[in-house]
Amino acid sequence: MPRPLVATVDIAALQHNLDVAKAHAPHAKIWAIVKANAYGHGLERAIRGFSKADGLGLIEPEAALALRELGWSKRILLLEGCFDAADLHAAAAHHIDIVVHSMEQLVLLERAELAEQVDVHLKINSGMNRLGFIPAICRDVYERLRSLPYVRNISFLTHFANADDAFNPALPLSEQMHRFQMATQGLEGERCLSNSAADLLHADCAADWVRPGIMLYGATPSPQTAASFGLQPAMTLRSEIIGIQHIARGDAVGYGSRFVAESPMTIGVVACGYADGYPRHAPTGTPVLVDGIKTRMVGRVSMDMITVDLTHLQNAKVGSSVTLWGDGLPIDDVASAAGTVGYELMCAVAPRVRMIEVNG
Ligand SMILES: *Cc1c(COP(=O)(O)O)cnc(C)c1O
Repeated sequence: MPRPLVATVDIAALQHNLDVAKAHAPHAKIWAIVKANAYGHGLERAIRGFSKADGLGLIEPEAALALRELGWSKRILLLEGCFDAADLHAAAAHHIDIVVHSMEQLVLLERAELAEQVDVHLKINSGMNRLGFIPAICRDVYERLRSLPYVRNISFLTHFANADDAFNPALPLSEQMHRFQMATQGLEGERCLSNSAADLLHADCAADWVRPGIMLYGATPSPQTAASFGLQPAMTLRSEIIGIQHIARGDAVGYGSRFVAESPMTIGVVACGYADGYPRHAPTGTPVLVDGIKTRMVGRVSMDMITVDLTHLQNAKVGSSVTLWGDGLPIDDVASAAGTVGYELMCAVAPRVRMIEVNG
């Protein structure tokens, strides 16, 4: 008898959200981003959900090889490039595109003397100051790449720091666009800039390719709701009430007795805790659905359980269905109550949580 906690992944929702990404950038090709095990949804499910994407982009070289083994024959892009020479040879052998973002990676590639050709994506630091070459040296890097016989196509990419907040005075989106254009002016190759926020909010950033991630899973980095963009939640995390306590005014709930009842209450115990990926810092008041009705989490999140307020839910009982996020309860709402982002919640779902799929 397994625990009642189950994460359901809706393959049709993944497909639908990819269509939404396409509709926002109708002339661009799409790298569907599947890093971190497809944001916690599983690579196999991502392959089916994103079968219409032009390529899959991710960080982990071993997962890129797994995609090939799972039968993905279209393009694959390693967004942080290769970490050593063995990775480079494996990438070339399996027709995996690589980013080159630093002098060290460029030198690694120059020394690798690959037996097969590889498509390279030159990453430009347009102001985020994480990965990439500064614009002033892009032309040099481009020429050095061009001179390698095993480099086939060279493309350009950059990553936005503030696509969800385009007028951020520290680094406006337009400034990043400008630096990217300066860096790549006159150089031949496909361009790729947009993440989900840019795809949804800034159609003018769509170039030859876009790189949506979070939106494909039905969440959004923008202050607007995912539903307002027509996105559907891909993952629903559900469990059940496994215990009920009737408490009096002044009684406390859970570790640290952090929640104290101000009047008589009914408390439901839910089989889901931080060891399952539920955010430990979620405070009292974090939304949760019991039999489809919205109520609130109360007290501290424990390793295997949370406690919820059933006082006004007369029909709730042991066995009642509990939605932690997903269908009917946007993951962004839960994340924002817990002071984090939907990305972190979906990526953190623990291996011990059963994952099933529907609409495949
Ligand atoms: C994760 C990632 C993306 C996707 O970002 P979202 O905000 O999830 O859309 C795009 N490009 C790169 C380089 C990334 O690392």
